[in-house]
Amino acid sequence: MMAKKWVYTFEEGNASMRDLLGGKGANLAEMTNIGLPVPPGFTITTEACIAYLKQDEKFPEGMWEQTVEAMKQLGDKMGRQFGNNSDPLLVSVRSGAKFSMPGMMDTILNLGLNDEAVRTLAARSGDERFAWDAYRRLVQMFGKVVMDIDGALFEELIGRIKEEEGVSTDPEISPQGWRKVTQWFKELIEEESGQEFPQDAWKQLELAVEAVFKSWNGKRAVDYRNATGISHDLGTAVNVVAMVFGNVGWDSGSGVAFTRNPSTGEKDLYGEYLLNAQGEDVVSGARTPADIHHLADELPEAWQALLEISDRLERHYRNMQDMEFTIENGKLWMLQTRNGKRTAAAEVKIAVDMVKEGLISPEEAVSRVEAFQIDQLLHPRFDEEAVKKVGVLAKGLNASPGAAVGKVYFDADTAEEKAKAGEAVILVRPETTPDDVHGMLAAKGILTQHGGATSHAAVVARQLGKPCVAGCEDIKINLKELKFEVNGTVVSEGDVISLDGATGRVFLGALPTVAPSFDEQPELQQILEWADGIRRLQVWANADDPEQATRARSYGAQGIGLCRTEHMFLGERTEKFQQAILAAQRGDKAEFQRVLDEELLPLQREDFYGIFKAMDGLPVIIRLLDPPLHEFLPSLEELIEEVATLKAQGRSDAAKEELLATVRDMHEFNPMLGLRGCRLGIMLPPLNTMQVRAIFEAACDAAKEGVDVHPEIMIPLTGHINELKEIQPLLEEVARQVMTEKGIEIKYKFGTMIEIPRAALTAGEIAEMAEFFSFGTNDLTQMTYGISRDDAERKFLLAYVEKGILPRNPFQTIDQTGVGRLMEMAVQEGRATRPDLEVGICGEHGGDPASIAFCHKIGLNYVSCSPFRVPIARLAAAHAVINEKKQ
Ligand code: PEP
Ligand code: MG
Repeated sequence: MMAKKWVYTFEEGNASMRDLLGGKGANLAEMTNIGLPVPPGFTITTEACIAYLKQDEKFPEGMWEQTVEAMKQLGDKMGRQFGNNSDPLLVSVRSGAKFSMPGMMDTILNLGLNDEAVRTLAARSGDERFAWDAYRRLVQMFGKVVMDIDGALFEELIGRIKEEEGVSTDPEISPQGWRKVTQWFKELIEEESGQEFPQDAWKQLELAVEAVFKSWNGKRAVDYRNATGISHDLGTAVNVVAMVFGNVGWDSGSGVAFTRNPSTGEKDLYGEYLLNAQGEDVVSGARTPADIHHLADELPEAWQALLEISDRLERHYRNMQDMEFTIENGKLWMLQTRNGKRTAAAEVKIAVDMVKEGLISPEEAVSRVEAFQIDQLLHPRFDEEAVKKVGVLAKGLNASPGAAVGKVYFDADTAEEKAKAGEAVILVRPETTPDDVHGMLAAKGILTQHGGATSHAAVVARQLGKPCVAGCEDIKINLKELKFEVNGTVVSEGDVISLDGATGRVFLGALPTVAPSFDEQPELQQILEWADGIRRLQVWANADDPEQATRARSYGAQGIGLCRTEHMFLGERTEKFQQAILAAQRGDKAEFQRVLDEELLPLQREDFYGIFKAMDGLPVIIRLLDPPLHEFLPSLEELIEEVATLKAQGRSDAAKEELLATVRDMHEFNPMLGLRGCRLGIMLPPLNTMQVRAIFEAACDAAKEGVDVHPEIMIPLTGHINELKEIQPLLEEVARQVMTEKGIEIKYKFGTMIEIPRAALTAGEIAEMAEFFSFGTNDLTQMTYGISRDDAERKFLLAYVEKGILPRNPFQTIDQTGVGRLMEMAVQEGRATRPDLEVGICGEHGGDPASIAFCHKIGLNYVSCSPFRVPIARLAAAHAVINEKKQ
């Protein structure tokens, strides 16, 4: 039997082998095979990593032998052998999982150097400084990654040599200086770990490979996967690549570049580089890198090559690429390419541009944009009027857009802890490293003093969709005293600042935000138009007044799926509504009717009229009054206290006492299961008849003016067909009466909400009366699960989700197996009775992408959600179609 293959040379792999070779390995292989300049190398598979972690951290059988063999072949190719101190082959060891996890795993460069080989390297290159710098890097990275020694201790020693030599930057340190530092590093390793830095190149390789494997289970990698939903059992591959050096003179360098701007999506190479440097110098923030465009002047040939490769990679992958490169004595080498992380705005622009460039289809463009990204684009920005008033505190790089307000904390652990306690947090760091990721996840925004557009903070923040201002050199952070200073202003831990990641501005205090403009985002509109051409589900909106309806329509809503009329009784109108309730309670029918007809009806009619006008030509579902009436009255506790206080003061207030008596009388232990929904209309018909009259008067008036009205009257909380039989004919009669009075006929429907499990179970019967169904999945979930929608999140529900007792919060995403099953049954049985039954959803789930996919699957006509989520729903409904085709 052939032994299992654990190692693949770059010639043996390709881009489709990401599962096995990881993203980096697969792309290095792909670039090799399309003829791009990649240093030779090989990949140890993710399967090897999984086997190693499963088998008590032992290499699987045959893996090491295959690695040694691949290394020998690599040596033959390069004309020098690994472990041969008189002419050593040097390699880098880099991790690479299937999904790129920025900065999560570790890299070790210059493997193969030791006390003897460093001298050969110096002689070979004629550059002693380079050789010792390379060696100290190896010892430093090895110490940090493999021996787990605090990186700051190494940095301190570099600081010490700078002081000794009276210089301020790394490149100024002398060859002797680096030699000394290397010695110190080795001593540090021995002191801290009790072990020597291994002189044997093969031992270095073995330990490095193990360290990469183990880092898959490191805290920061696990945190990142938890936050981004990447599975924990994929494992990481290890890439072993022949070294090319960016630090062998001023015709050499290292850099990172995106084929398009990852912040805006603009088609222009975007990135940074440093001459005479290795890759980590660019991202570490120790030296400030130059804008990639300067390369055109400094090394024109390499620049030209980079432009050509960038273009070729984009056409090959049909996606924006994030590349790492090294220039060694003028020659460009590609060290990595991957689909670049980008902001939501860039995602949308790039997708649209690539369709125009003929690289991808509109359908592919739609499938690339994710629903949560639309959410980001519709996130608030700071109010520029307020900005003018407070003035800018500091300005840095606009690394990741969005507006964030929060309290300043200077380390990731505290930031995480405070965020858990409910505070809005801004993480402020000199620069971030992978060790800070948990703090970044917890923070509303990130501010760094150093680091560029491709620094760790910038890349990770863009990925997470968090506002980030990076490289804000205006601020001087003092980590010991937990404060930073800007031009005399001191900001201490716990002070509030506001960050504008789109412009790089930092403000003192909390600035107000404004909603972004949908109209000013033509590319987003283009994506959504394409999505509209793909989706089958309609998208309607929940809107309670003309203004919301207008907004919903501008976002693309095709109807109103829920107008909660109780929201029309809030504010100043509550008092009038209370009058009606009190009259009804005392049995004063005439007064009850008078308040309804004279005080409330005109107001309702005006609201409905505005909504019909805003929704000209589109359906409008208006729900009759739903909540328990006590919601419109003062609380029982407050009233008892007020009346008691008055009594104690020897005073009395007859009105208050009557109110108290009424409220007491109406008190229910389970109001959500009490006198609400259609039960209200059945017990107090004038409430419903007034509303239906207002709806039809408004609709007829609007229709007479030429507005195309489509009212649909929705009866809430039905549980039994007899409820509809009781109330619906009465209401239909009112409708006919109004149309006769107004002398105009309009089309209308009567239907019901399905939000009680019994209604779903008897949907076939209910459809005899109801011309449409709308799933009220908030109540349906509450009643199916027996979990209070108003209390559960404060008590046990989130703990349930955290413990995995429930896979997710059922009030956010439909529980398909339970609630969903009821829905599916109701759709089928309802349509069996009435084939043209219109069915939609108006609970919160109507704006949740996973729930929308489910609604598509079970054949609803539409989903209805809040106006702000309409664009998300349009996209999610298209994704549902695209994913269905894929299956
Ligand atoms: C529902 O229950 O899902 C619903 C839309 O009604 P409300 O949230 O108003 O109870
Ligand atoms: Mg409800």
